[in-house]
Amino acid sequence: DGAKRPDYLAGLNPEQTEAVETLEGPVLVLAGAGTGKTRVLTTRIAHILSTGRAFPSQILAVTFTNKAAREMKERIALLVGGAVEGMPWLGTFHSIGVKLLRRHAELVNLRSDFTILDTDDVVRLIKQLIQAEGLDDKRWPAKQFAGMIDTWKNKGLGPADIPEGDARAFANGKGRELYFAYQARLMSLNACDFGDLLMHPIAIFRKNPDLLKEYHQRFRYILVDEYQDTNTAQYMWLRLLAQRPGRKSTSPLVGGMPGRAEGDIASDTGSRTSAFVASPDISSKREEIAETTINICCVGDDDQSIYGWRGAEVDNILRFEKDFPGAKVIKLERNYRSTEHILGAAAHLIAHNEGRLGKTLFTDRVDPEDVKVQVHASWDSEEEARAIGEEIEALQRKQHDLNDMAILVRASFQMREFEDRFVTLGLNYRVIGGPRFYERLEIRDAMAYFRLVAQPADDLAFERIINTPKRGLGETTVRALHDYARARDIPMLAAAADIIETDELKPKARKALFDVVHSFRNWQQRLETTPHTELAEQIIEESGYTDMWKADKTAEAPGRLENLKELIRSMESFESLRGFLEHVALVMDAEQNENLDAVSIMTLHSAKGLEFDTVFLPGWEEGLFPHQRSLDESGRAGLEEERRLAYVGITRAKRRCHIWFVSNRRIHGLWQSTIPSRFLDELPETHVEVAEVEQSYGGYGRGGYGQSRFDKADPFANSYSTPGWKRAQANRTDATRDNWGTRSGHAVERIGYGESGPKGRMIDGE
Ligand code: ATP
Ligand code: MG
Repeated sequence: DGAKRPDYLAGLNPEQTEAVETLEGPVLVLAGAGTGKTRVLTTRIAHILSTGRAFPSQILAVTFTNKAAREMKERIALLVGGAVEGMPWLGTFHSIGVKLLRRHAELVNLRSDFTILDTDDVVRLIKQLIQAEGLDDKRWPAKQFAGMIDTWKNKGLGPADIPEGDARAFANGKGRELYFAYQARLMSLNACDFGDLLMHPIAIFRKNPDLLKEYHQRFRYILVDEYQDTNTAQYMWLRLLAQRPGRKSTSPLVGGMPGRAEGDIASDTGSRTSAFVASPDISSKREEIAETTINICCVGDDDQSIYGWRGAEVDNILRFEKDFPGAKVIKLERNYRSTEHILGAAAHLIAHNEGRLGKTLFTDRVDPEDVKVQVHASWDSEEEARAIGEEIEALQRKQHDLNDMAILVRASFQMREFEDRFVTLGLNYRVIGGPRFYERLEIRDAMAYFRLVAQPADDLAFERIINTPKRGLGETTVRALHDYARARDIPMLAAAADIIETDELKPKARKALFDVVHSFRNWQQRLETTPHTELAEQIIEESGYTDMWKADKTAEAPGRLENLKELIRSMESFESLRGFLEHVALVMDAEQNENLDAVSIMTLHSAKGLEFDTVFLPGWEEGLFPHQRSLDESGRAGLEEERRLAYVGITRAKRRCHIWFVSNRRIHGLWQSTIPSRFLDELPETHVEVAEVEQSYGGYGRGGYGQSRFDKADPFANSYSTPGWKRAQANRTDATRDNWGTRSGHAVERIGYGESGPKGRMIDGE
């Protein structure tokens, strides 16, 4: 027919169009990175809405992150012209799970105002249970059991379902009992954990067929992004919603679209409809499909399955056709995101994996710069942050937006170095998927101490730390101080100094306050005499602040102590405490604005589905990437998952991809010399080159502690230079040769890697 195609369909390629217009029956889009899978889902929703096939509330759409959900909503609104009044069931599995559970909490004996426990709460609770059982919680750590429960829940296993052997593995066979006790305890607290957000809805649907039927009728269309990373529980949940026994294709729509039958076309919308009436093979199966399934569309890429460690089952995507008979499988092969070099490098790398479906990918994207993927080497991680900072500033000078750049790290501890550097440079950045370094609780506390030493009138800082750690200076004291200070128009610290001379406070509080006032006097006196980093260290020690975290047994405490060390280290590059405080204040202040142009920093795991003009991938070293833990725990499978993560990283780049490795890395305060990642060897010569080393950040030229500590060492002694193209590249200039470890005539031989890689570098990742 000659009717005009709606605007949102224009520009799609034939396969994409088919995926958008095949609205009936199950559809699987299985395709590589950047081929438009997410775009297909978004357009499909727009198509459903603007042809009047369903109301927004009748579409169930699952994304992998909340951010992705927000973006999808915005895009849909753009496509259909802004008239979407919310999509209540568009979100992550968890957010949709919460919504379902709030509605039907009573069916699993919860109240609808249940609380959701975080990991810390869960560990604490389990610890109590272990102790209550009279078990040794050192021998049987709560954290370990929390992990087991999480694994069970990801597999959809409740306490009654867990196999004997699994349960025996903990506390001499008490695992099952403990799991029961844990669930009972949650119930009595009117609480649930993350796993329950999936488990409870599954239980509710199973036990209440009538209710399930209501949801079958409600959800006319189901769409799932990143299907390769669904776990078994999510899969069960989807299956329950997607299998609808015994409904005829003529049953009317629920929710107020009278007279329109399922499979009918919204003839009043004026849009083209012939594609919907479908190819013969679909329509012959229509009856059968309508009886057993509904209109489900899943999109994914087996090469981007990166959550196996959290229970994701890539098999879910591989057995889609079996689960949903009559499914149409659509492949997309054209990549719209990346240049040929980027795509070529990624494809070559991922070809080293064995367990994959394999697929063709091509791109027409022509970039005027047409640069290869660049591999860089730095002396240590500080140098790496410095070099990347310079690269970013160079791009900025060429009018590139910071918003178009991202740094993707393997483990979150890597972020600090970049944040430190960017604060120094005054370069805006945002951390996705976690707080920024200077926003972390322990950093803000410590900074409050420093501020109050440098600026005694800083009442906000005073109030923040006066009872942190706990000193028995509670609300009453603070209020008394407040009133005293206000009446005399003096800062609170000065009021404290006055008030301890009176008998206005109870003796205990007075004594505690006396100590605080004297500590601050002491630190202020040292301000001019003691080097500021030393003083900072003394402050957090003497105030009892570090001890507070040392005594804290939550899972987060060690990380907080690490961050405090990192904070002290970050001061090294400043002349004085005041200089440092000013700088942080300026940057923090400037960044309050969400819409600010800023570099994104995040883990590779949270970069899924995103894209940037320029992507920096630091830390490509054995033990960090591939991560030692995943090699130790899952061997070959672990290595393949790490490689998929590398594939995800490279394919986030549209135009420029920079990969970095360093020769020395400080991990949790200890220096380790490193070996370049084996993934570097797996990149193809044709699409990758070693970047020229610029004098400004050449490993040895720079002064500072790095050099003084290592001047005798050969900074690249631990780099193994590599065969083929890299050596050829390295021979081009002396500078680059240095980077590949041939500087002092080292043998350029590779050592073989065992199944689990070189030993002896356990790194605590995320
Ligand atoms: P990933 O596997 O990384 O999640 P994806 O397959 O979901 O990737 P999208 O993010 O949907 O890919 O698309 C990648 C980029 O290509 C986006 O910028 C998107 O707008 C663009 N794109 C997709 N299809 C087309 C098209 N037909 N014409 C022009 N650009 C397109
Ligand atoms: Mg996507």
